[in-house]
Amino acid sequence: MPKECSTALPPRAPFYEKGLRFECQAGCSGCCGGFPGYVWLDRESDVPRISRFLGLSEGDFLARYTRVVEGRISLKDLPDQKWNCVMLKEGRCSIYAVRPTQCRTYPFWASNLAARSQWDALADECPGIGKGRIYTQTEIETILDERGAADDSER
Ligand code: SF4
Repeated sequence: MPKECSTALPPRAPFYEKGLRFECQAGCSGCCGGFPGYVWLDRESDVPRISRFLGLSEGDFLARYTRVVEGRISLKDLPDQKWNCVMLKEGRCSIYAVRPTQCRTYPFWASNLAARSQWDALADECPGIGKGRIYTQTEIETILDERGAADDSER
């Protein structure tokens, strides 16, 4: 029997198959404010973790620091302070150790990894791209899985 003809192309390796360098740069808070945006919180993981860290009940935390937008929970931003995230204090994230998944997985978001051109464009605004240690393809894909299909168009 002749070999079956296949029109399917073999899967292509992602542009990040050799890994990507990234490290948050001290003193940079460029993705935490300066423009309106959303920092979405997962109700089951982010909210309890951050509430505990702040020593607040979940209800108090939600009332003081968050807002609901189309049924989703976001940290507030402060229009009178350049739209900075409410957790940004003196240029630093005041909850860095327990920061939301959205922040912890940045910049390894699906939208930023869709193509080399997207990643290179991000490097123009994020000084941490290309610096620090290499995240391997496996690490990057683990982060992508953790972030899931969340909307990337946030902060
Ligand atoms: S929670 Fe922290 S890391 Fe996330 S946007 Fe706010 S200040 Fe930045």
